[in-house]
Amino acid sequence: MLKPDKDLIIIGGGAAGLSAAQYGARANLRTLLIEETALGGQALIIEGLENYPGFPEPISGFELAQRFEQQARNFGAEFLTASVKKVQKHEALFKVETSSGILTSYAAIIATGAKHRMLGVPGEKELAGKGVSYCATCDGPFFKNQKMLVVGGGDAACDEAMFLAKLSDKIIHIHRRDRFRAQKALALRVLNNPHIQVRFHTVLERIHGMKNPMGIEKVHKVTLKQLDTGKVYEEEVAAVFVFIGSDPNTGFIEGVEKDENGYIITDQRMQTNVPGLFCAGDSRATPFRQIVVAAGEGAIAAHSAAQYIDELLGQAY
Ligand code: NAP
Repeated sequence: MLKPDKDLIIIGGGAAGLSAAQYGARANLRTLLIEETALGGQALIIEGLENYPGFPEPISGFELAQRFEQQARNFGAEFLTASVKKVQKHEALFKVETSSGILTSYAAIIATGAKHRMLGVPGEKELAGKGVSYCATCDGPFFKNQKMLVVGGGDAACDEAMFLAKLSDKIIHIHRRDRFRAQKALALRVLNNPHIQVRFHTVLERIHGMKNPMGIEKVHKVTLKQLDTGKVYEEEVAAVFVFIGSDPNTGFIEGVEKDENGYIITDQRMQTNVPGLFCAGDSRATPFRQIVVAAGEGAIAAHSAAQYIDELLGQAY
């Protein structure tokens, strides 16, 4: 067998990819991580991460990502800034087609994450991180006891509304249809929660900001529309949490088993249906998308990749 450029190529530099890079390099694999933008993934937008174990004082997502990267570099992982166009298995090796050329490896890990869907209403983009959020666990505690708006009708919206209802008794939960799409038990818990006021047939039309005394613009109110009556009205809220689904960044990879939403299916070793190809983090079909989960999955994927390579080269115990 021809010796490839690297033993292990990891695609995606969020928590899953960075953790995999550290574990891959520590397992003495020639490990390369390819990321098209900044390292850190979705963690980068989190101002103060309160729930990452080991950090009792909130750490910024940016700083955590830098620490992940440094740790991986300390063990010898290499990094390349490039976009990946295609990953193909050619005989026993993986061929990774990037904007900087073709690279080969024995094993590959997909850790390209997912991007949350945006509503596309005026004010959403401008006020993201200033009261507009896509993660209640991350940002909810900043708005304790304040009025918050939740948008969406699926499991994520209902789960997150329940989480926010522990922080405030003034949660308004809107959904465009006449019932939730979420699992019945979860939907009922939201409907029966005295801290949550559910408004069906309601859509968000605009998010308005206002400068606080420090001159920083923050979410101040929203314009809502009741679809069945056509009534348009304003509501003062401190935060808007949008949960209208997410899309995995897996379009570039073909021939791998995915669920109906495009998330990659693996076994518990993070192995896809293609031997030697692993997946970890938010691009995987996984029930709980969190940085700590992604980091754990990255570690499992790299460990499994190392075992796969040992078996491939006849070096397994
Ligand atoms: P989802 O199930 O696709 O639900 C998205 C929701 O957003 C739907 O209610 C949809 O409305 C609404 N929506 C979509 N586009 C919208 C728009 N432009 N304006 C207003 N509303 C819009 O997404 P999800 O809740 O993120 O869940 C994704 C997957 O993760 C699901 O498989 C879910 O089961 C799983 N998950 C599970 C749990 C759990 O088990 N606890 C927790 C979180 C996620 P319509 O209903 O009208 O289409």
